Amino acid sequence: MKEIFCVRFFQINKMAVRFFLPPFLIEVNMLIKITDKCNMNCTHCLDDAKPDNSHFMSYEDFMNSVSFFNKYGEGVFIISGGEPMEHPYFWTFLEYALDFVRTSLNVGCVVVTTNGMYMTNDIVYNKIKEYEDKYGFKFIFQVTSVEKYYPIKIDLTHKVFSLRSVCVCKEIESMYPMGRALDNNIQCPPHKCSKCFNIRSAVRSFKNLKLACQCLAFKAKFCAPAICYNGDIRLGESRLCPVASNIYKSHEEIVSDISNFTCKNPICREINKTLPINALEAIGEI
Ligand code: SF4
Ligand code: SF4
Repeated sequence: MKEIFCVRFFQINKMAVRFFLPPFLIEVNMLIKITDKCNMNCTHCLDDAKPDNSHFMSYEDFMNSVSFFNKYGEGVFIISGGEPMEHPYFWTFLEYALDFVRTSLNVGCVVVTTNGMYMTNDIVYNKIKEYEDKYGFKFIFQVTSVEKYYPIKIDLTHKVFSLRSVCVCKEIESMYPMGRALDNNIQCPPHKCSKCFNIRSAVRSFKNLKLACQCLAFKAKFCAPAICYNGDIRLGESRLCPVASNIYKSHEEIVSDISNFTCKNPICREINKTLPINALEAIGEI
C-alpha cells in the first residue's frame, strides 16, 4: 500500500506538475499542524497527541500559515495535527487552502494526513467528491491505518477510500523516537540524522528560508519545518521539538533563529553522532 500511495501520489503530482508547476516542485516541504488533539491515542505518537489535548489553530493563524508557506515554501504542504479532522474548522481551513492553491503559482497541492476515523460516512464522501470536481488534482487525503499501531480500526472497505484523492498508507513512514514512541519503547527504523537536519543545514548554508526550501525541493528532500497552532515554527515534525521561531517574525529574524538554533534532545544528539564532521558543522553542532 505504501508503494501504491507513492505511485498514486507521484502520478497525481505529475499531472499537477504538467499543468501548473515546474517539474521539481513535487516535494512536501512544510507541515501546518492545526491541532494537538487526537482521539486515536496511538502508542507510537511522536507528537504525544491525546483526546484531551485542546489546542486549535485560529482561522487567522491558518490564513497566515498558508501565506507563510506561499512566501517561503515550495510545492506541497501538509495539513496535519494531531488529527486535523478534530479541528472544528477543518473543512473551512481546507477550502481556504484549496482556493488559495488554485490561484497560486507556488503551491501545487495540499496533503491532509489523517488517521481516517472521521472519514467513513456519506457527508465526508460527498464533500471530498465535491472538492474533486471543484479543485481537481489539488489535494490528497493520506490516510494512515496500520492495525498493529492504531487502536481504533477503520472500515477500509468504505466507498470513501475508493475516491481518487484518497490514498491509504499501510506503513508508518515517520516513526521516530520522540513522544509516546520513546516512552513506550517502540522500535523505530534507523535514522541517518535528526528530523530537523535538512532545514537547519539548508538555512545555515543559504541564509535564506526560500532558497533553502527551493534547494530541498529540488533535491527531493523532505523538509519539515512545522508551523504549530499558534504560528510557532518547530524544525522537526513533532510538536515536542523546541520552538525555533514564529511565522510573525521578519525573514531576517527567522533565518537568524534557525541558523542559531541548537537542541539538546539526547536521542537526536545520539542519532546525529553518526554524521560526519562536516554535516555536524552544517547544523552548528560541533
Ligand atoms: S500517531 Fe497520528 S493517529 Fe496516532 S495518536 Fe498520533 S496523531 Fe493520532
Ligand atoms: S527534538 Fe530537537 S534535534 Fe530532535 S528533531 Fe526536534 S528540533 Fe531536531
